[in-house]
Amino acid sequence: MTTNAQEFARARGAMPGGVNSPVRAFGSVHETPRFFASATGPYVTDVEGREYVDLVGSWGPAILGHAHPAVVKAVQDAAAHGLGFGASTPGETELAELIAARVLRQAQQTGSPVAEPVEAHPIERVRLVSTGTEATMTAIRLARGATGRDLIVKFAGHYHGHSDGLLAEAGSGVATLAMPGSAGVPAPIAAQTLVIPYNDIDAVREVFAARGADIAAVIVEAAPANMGIVPPAHGFNAALADIAHAHGALLILDEVLTGFRVGPAGWYGIDPVPFSPDLVTFGKVVGGGLPLAALGGSAALMELLAPLGPVYQAGTLSGNPLAVAAGRATLDHLDADAYARIDAAATTIADAAASALSQAGVTHVVQRSGNLFSIQFAAEAPVDYDTVKAQEAFRYAPFFRTMLAQGVSLPPSVFEAWFVSAAHDDAAVARIVEALPAAARAAAEATTG
Ligand SMILES: *Cc1c(COP(=O)(O)O)cnc(C)c1O
Repeated sequence: MTTNAQEFARARGAMPGGVNSPVRAFGSVHETPRFFASATGPYVTDVEGREYVDLVGSWGPAILGHAHPAVVKAVQDAAAHGLGFGASTPGETELAELIAARVLRQAQQTGSPVAEPVEAHPIERVRLVSTGTEATMTAIRLARGATGRDLIVKFAGHYHGHSDGLLAEAGSGVATLAMPGSAGVPAPIAAQTLVIPYNDIDAVREVFAARGADIAAVIVEAAPANMGIVPPAHGFNAALADIAHAHGALLILDEVLTGFRVGPAGWYGIDPVPFSPDLVTFGKVVGGGLPLAALGGSAALMELLAPLGPVYQAGTLSGNPLAVAAGRATLDHLDADAYARIDAAATTIADAAASALSQAGVTHVVQRSGNLFSIQFAAEAPVDYDTVKAQEAFRYAPFFRTMLAQGVSLPPSVFEAWFVSAAHDDAAVARIVEALPAAARAAAEATTG
């Protein structure tokens, strides 16, 4: 039998750092990465035969639990009919319709003396792509094409994938590696992205006052989850939309992580203050575990994409039938009952983590955005990238390792959210809750050295 250490040594000889995505290397938690052999429901099993309760969930897609029978069957059925055609299939239309139909909320009709609630549907057309990176990259090109402007505003600590223009102060893996951004991004491209602090509406006003006529779009994580969880201030997204629109710029709402996870209509559906995004990006859950992502918006905007409009975008594997089948089966099973189970399990785990840390005397906060949460070793809830980075992050590695040793697989970075699934039943949740006190004590004893 092979071991995780043997697999990692071999992998490092074949792939940079032994991985195909940096955070998987476990660098910031000083631990040998686990190589997985299989997964089912809330559990993953490594090549040594050890089972863990999983709180990574493939970084979100495993929202129904791993290898959900209906999703696996949908993929098997699709595969039996051909792996892909490089041509259109009816399933793509059905998934696009499903996405557009789910993303809605009650909105007050503006300008009407008797405020009548109407349903707001920001998505009339959808394009399917293969990764979240492609979705945000395309949304930005589309915003530039629509406005004839070049500048993009993004927030420090927000992650929108690894395209050149979006890697500045990008949270997630770059935060874990303590990198300011990435080498290899030409300065003239980096200069097209204006990075400002999150949750600071004055900073938004200032950047638009200074450069408003040149700004194509502001891109924002609907509820940031790639610097740990940092919820938007009340009304922040709405204020952002208003300011952008007042200057003729677009709001790109990045729901790659939150979409169809925090609720049936993503964060858009549960933000306490309604607002109007122009383009919305999806990934992770929408692909049900296979490579699929999407962007959507009004017909007028989306039809600027080729073949109808002048903004080019394409993909050999876009709308792949296996990925479409996985996404449809996943969305079909994400009903009110599934969300209720995810929310309840997330609340239990988050509360247990907070109480274990309090018992151990560890200064911490547990921040939540719907059923997403993460712990932060700070006295006050961080509100932006600077306050996130000021926490006692060194406490996370021993916390993580103690959980792992007890059979719980957490995200291998303090800057990532914990992903609960509908398959986290009482037994799985109990295993997590039982492991937390020892991990909290390890965090208490941690030293910077
Ligand atoms: C994961 C993520 C992306 C990038 O998606 P990939 O599929 O990894 O390219 C973009 N935006 C957000 C908010 C994400 O969480």
